[in-house]
Amino acid sequence: MSNVNDLLSFIEKSPTAFHACENLCKELEASGRKRLSEGEKWELRAGEGYFVTRNMSSVIAFDIPESADSLRIIAAHSDSPAFKIKENAELSVRGKYTQLNVEKYGGMLFAPWFDRPLSVAGRVLVRTESGMEARLIDVDRDLLVIPNVAIHMNREVNDGFKYNAQTDMMPLFGDETAKDGFKKLIAEEAGVPEEDLIGNDLFLYPRIKGAVVGHEGEYILSPRLDDLECAWSGLRAFLGAKKPVKGINMLCVFDNEEVGSGTKQGADSTFLYDVIRRVFLALGSTEEEIYRALAASFMLSADNAHAVHPNHPEKTDAENCTFMNDGIVIKFNANQRYTTDGVSAAFFHKLLKENDIPYQHFANRSDVAGGGTLGNISGSHVSINTLDIGLAQLAMHSVCETAGAKDVDYMVNGMTAFYDTHVAVGRDGEFFIG
Ligand code: ZN
Repeated sequence: MSNVNDLLSFIEKSPTAFHACENLCKELEASGRKRLSEGEKWELRAGEGYFVTRNMSSVIAFDIPESADSLRIIAAHSDSPAFKIKENAELSVRGKYTQLNVEKYGGMLFAPWFDRPLSVAGRVLVRTESGMEARLIDVDRDLLVIPNVAIHMNREVNDGFKYNAQTDMMPLFGDETAKDGFKKLIAEEAGVPEEDLIGNDLFLYPRIKGAVVGHEGEYILSPRLDDLECAWSGLRAFLGAKKPVKGINMLCVFDNEEVGSGTKQGADSTFLYDVIRRVFLALGSTEEEIYRALAASFMLSADNAHAVHPNHPEKTDAENCTFMNDGIVIKFNANQRYTTDGVSAAFFHKLLKENDIPYQHFANRSDVAGGGTLGNISGSHVSINTLDIGLAQLAMHSVCETAGAKDVDYMVNGMTAFYDTHVAVGRDGEFFIG
């Protein structure tokens, strides 16, 4: 259970993508990996590990081997759907209530956000003597509530209700004395006078601790399992894998997957491509060597998957459906919204079988569109063999999601085996796996 407890405490300290990124970096630094900056010259040495962040919300870590003839990449995402606080943050209701003015970030289930303590965390920009500087803040106390309308005032609510993000979802911050108090609170958290607070990216988050539930403790219930479970598992595998001799181990955790990845730090940016090229250039590789390494590279795009719902088993395909605690999910989609194909699936099947790690297969019902993820987006910039994997979970994009307690170990072990496996290519379609 130690992996489960560590995962839940990682998620608890990571209320936003910024905090998730910072917590990943802390562990990378503690393991001896060196922090690089995109603005500085990179000098890399075989046998060493490094990491670099972009926007403080995406991170790429890599270990340099003796022979950088290929890459083994694991990708996951740092963000989760939430409510973002607007620039003019306060609203007044009848001169008696002060609300915060929020908008949706990503597609979430609305109902679970009601009637529970919420707080605020994120990034602020503060004026400094030489310019400006970003700081992370977490108010870290029960601060806000989005109250439901009583059943007496909305008798039909249980027959289905259409929530309006502008009118139904504004959190209550305080009474009339709270007016003009939000910026003051944030400035205090940042440790600066109000006038030095010059920018922010702040989000609501639920004040809920992860829990182990079920008859035998077989499930975990926590906010942000999508996708911090895969991001954290990727980190564990990256840190626990053998020191690579051939092939670069790389871990990428991208922000903004929940809003389409199209930001400078998202999977649809040049971040991964830029880092890969800079690594090879710093190692003195030729262009030819970069292309040869890419041809022998594999990526696991890791993002959680839908388990069969106990109340609605009809929502999933009859056979290509997945259950919590039945192992790593390999996702398929004929239109390649999931990148898995025969080649990448065969490679991973072989790997998991040889390491006795359980796995299962997922495809959407043929009449359901389903969601895309990182792999196919990243693949448009760095085109390598990729497969989409994840762990089966319920209630995706709810305030609390449910997943399998045993699956955490399966994912860590599967990802570790991936990092410990070297691939070389022969002719197109021929692979040497060792
Ligand atoms: Zn996800």
